[in-house]
Amino acid sequence: MFQLATLLRPHIAALVPYSSARDEYTGTEGVFLDANENPLGSTTTEGDYNRYPDPHQQAIKQRLAPIKGVRPEQVFLGNGSDEPIDLLVRATCTPGQDQILIMPPTYGMYEVSASINDVAITKVPLTPDFQVDTDAVLAAITDTTKLIFLCSPNNPSGNLLQPDAIRRILDAAQTALVIVDEAYIDFADVPSWTAQLDAYPNLVVLQTFSKAWGLAGLRLGMCFASPELIAVMNKIKPPYNISAPTQALALDALTHEADKRQMVTEIMDERQWLSDALQTLPTVQQIHPSDANFLLVRFTDAKGTFAYLIEQQVIVRDRSSVKLCDGCLRITVGTRTENERLIDVLRQPAPVPAEAQLPLGTDDEATKPEPVSNS
Ligand SMILES: *Cc1c(COP(=O)(O)O)cnc(C)c1O
Repeated sequence: MFQLATLLRPHIAALVPYSSARDEYTGTEGVFLDANENPLGSTTTEGDYNRYPDPHQQAIKQRLAPIKGVRPEQVFLGNGSDEPIDLLVRATCTPGQDQILIMPPTYGMYEVSASINDVAITKVPLTPDFQVDTDAVLAAITDTTKLIFLCSPNNPSGNLLQPDAIRRILDAAQTALVIVDEAYIDFADVPSWTAQLDAYPNLVVLQTFSKAWGLAGLRLGMCFASPELIAVMNKIKPPYNISAPTQALALDALTHEADKRQMVTEIMDERQWLSDALQTLPTVQQIHPSDANFLLVRFTDAKGTFAYLIEQQVIVRDRSSVKLCDGCLRITVGTRTENERLIDVLRQPAPVPAEAQLPLGTDDEATKPEPVSNS
């Protein structure tokens, strides 16, 4: 049986959190002389921000919960998804002792967050078709494995992970949290794992306002989990982690869910258009199926194509040095005009191979430590 208490680091379980002025008095009317704010206003003409924001973002959670089919107490909001990822590592993993489990190729922040915290990383690669090697994952889980990260749809491959694999891991991992990162779920035609939260107390679902909602600049990530785990995360987060303008804009965005759906539909149509167009190019060897807003595409000469595209001021992501992504560029689905520009540029005469452009001896990519990408 899963027990959150045994998973937490002892000092986190025992921690008494900082109690902010806004925690101790939650009314909205009155003379506020409790938080050392400036009573006169703000030094900006773009609105008044002299008051501290709601530390628990109640208004957003009230509006978000019914949209997501969860209860407000199952929601944590962070400064991007990076914040809940980091808080989960710090709440459960003792440095030099515990570890997280990831399945490369996947999102870089899980590894970075563990490394910042001096927490070890167990890697069980995805299969060549980017699915979970479930038996290998189950065999790799030990009693010091505290977090298991699954990214579905996966970045950089773009595909959904098979639900059976996720379910088997959720059933088996009784001393770890299973985190399903659904940053791209809006672009996939499947239900979210949030529907399973009540069935699996070890399940954590991450989503974000950065992709489908079009709010990457705001930095707002969503984390859905048991009320018990959410309470722990609230206890260890910086008190005012979501700024007042971010809260106001997110609250407004949530009244425009229809616009989000329409943008998602348009991006999914564009994904099909882009895939069909790429298919006709002789330099394109493979287009991996995508349930996200990007395509992982294998080219005959990925590095040369990447450099040539940059020259033409079309910027894509070079994933060709990433495990299982040999020869691949990751291309975000743009507007029709942007996608047409990409295709036009790629149709022009074949680029000079990368080796021919570089002075001898500088092509040492393979031996350099791989910088981890966070987007
Ligand atoms: C883009 C992305 C996120 C979102 O990160 P934010 O910090 O919320 O912008 C999370 N997970 C994955 C896999 C992503 O690709």
